[in-house]
Amino acid sequence: MEYSTQKYKIKDEKMKAFIDSSEIWDFINNAQPKKERVREIIQKSLDKNRLSLEETAILIKTEDKELVEEIKQGARTLKETVYGDRIVLFAPLYIGNYCTNNCQYCGFRVTNKKQIRVTLSKSQIIKEVEALEDTGHKRLILVYGEHPMYTPEFIAESVRTVYKVKSGAGEIRRVNINAAPLSIEGFRTVKASEIGTYQIFQETYHPETYAKVHLAGNKRDFENRLIALDKAMEAGIDDVGIGALFGLYDWRYEVLALVRHVNHFEEVYKVGPHTISFPRIQNASELNVNNEYLVNDEDFAKLVAILRLAVPYTGMILTAREPVEVRKEVLQYGVSQIDGGTNIQMEGYTQHEAETQNLEMEQFEISDTRSLSEVIDELIETDYLPSFCTACYRLGRTGEHFMEFSVPGFIKRYCSPNAILTLAEYLEDYATSEIKIKGYAMIERKILDLAKYQKTEILQKKLEKLKNGERDLYF
Ligand code: SAM
Ligand code: SF4
Repeated sequence: MEYSTQKYKIKDEKMKAFIDSSEIWDFINNAQPKKERVREIIQKSLDKNRLSLEETAILIKTEDKELVEEIKQGARTLKETVYGDRIVLFAPLYIGNYCTNNCQYCGFRVTNKKQIRVTLSKSQIIKEVEALEDTGHKRLILVYGEHPMYTPEFIAESVRTVYKVKSGAGEIRRVNINAAPLSIEGFRTVKASEIGTYQIFQETYHPETYAKVHLAGNKRDFENRLIALDKAMEAGIDDVGIGALFGLYDWRYEVLALVRHVNHFEEVYKVGPHTISFPRIQNASELNVNNEYLVNDEDFAKLVAILRLAVPYTGMILTAREPVEVRKEVLQYGVSQIDGGTNIQMEGYTQHEAETQNLEMEQFEISDTRSLSEVIDELIETDYLPSFCTACYRLGRTGEHFMEFSVPGFIKRYCSPNAILTLAEYLEDYATSEIKIKGYAMIERKILDLAKYQKTEILQKKLEKLKNGERDLYF
């Protein structure tokens, strides 16, 4: 597979803004979704090629029902043939909700006097992490408002605290971050605490809309946010996550701009982002967003499928913002990570039930309040292999999504066996007896599948060792 070599009106350079909104609209306005062309584009992606902006725009403009179905089927096929059936599980943990910005969609914004402000102390972090470990989690994303208190040292310290927590057989093996942009030096400080991915969402790539919804604080600076992850790359954080908050502006524009962002990374750093997120706006305390651009379920499913086809090697994250039924549908179109057992209320994992949400203690309302156990049960029922794998990151195999995609046999050699091992660990330590039975039945089926392509003796030996009490085994 080759990276995109498309050239744009604004030349891509490190730490230089690259969005020209009229150019993005030109791509959309000029796109002609003729049947044969749409099919060619889907096939190009199935042949493991990146799509250009013109090609992505054609998919975006496709409205013919039959063709939209083909786009979705294309995304399904790509997921099945390239990535297989693994879904990686994680949980968000909110560390602090003080914030000096005034984002009109967010319950944490500075003008929201109803929001109860909390910064978790070290002992509170430990308790929250213990509670998460006790349900079986191994991967967390820590989330912060933007406030002078949340310095790079503070963030790094909270990451170190999380890694030290060991409750029973539990431990957190990968900590990702979603926080404000930092200086290169600041990113270096955070990287030194051994984070996985640093996520920053642009929210909207449309500068005028951006100005309308960000009314105070550092976040008002569109370009500063746009180049923030370049700075993370400069600091050596090579796993970065991009995203747009769908519902602020036209979804078609945002999808194309996300692809433009990917192209920027490919052009200047020769590597795309690790993940793409596509949150839709949820209800929040003092939410102040008009309805004009809210994305309906149908368009949402279509946009996820288009993103899958356009950037086939990038991890895609779907969160508990979405209701169970939407999650179930969209999972098919190439999502690689979901959260489970999510509770985003401050101190939620120890003090508050997920079902009884209080908007004054959280950034927004979530729709999927199921426990991790329930999410895993459903994944197994629908033949997805739940995975808590962190092997690549711990063995220094960064850019794992890219390798999964481009290195023949990588998934069968590493990802599937590691998913099986981490699922077995979960079954041994945390599962109900019913899920344990279903889970091991799934593991047997998956090993039989793998045995068609490769020897499975070492995997079977590792499984035996796990059953005898060893932990954290991987390839
Ligand atoms: N303060 C950091 C920042 O702004 O980058 C952390 C971000 S926030 C805690 C995580 C993300 O949640 C935001 O980037 C935004 O996309 C999303 N978000 C905010 N309000 C939301 C809402 N009402 N519904 C859904 N997602 C929302
Ligand atoms: Fe603060 Fe982030 Fe919420 Fe904006 S989105 S108000 S920066 S926490």
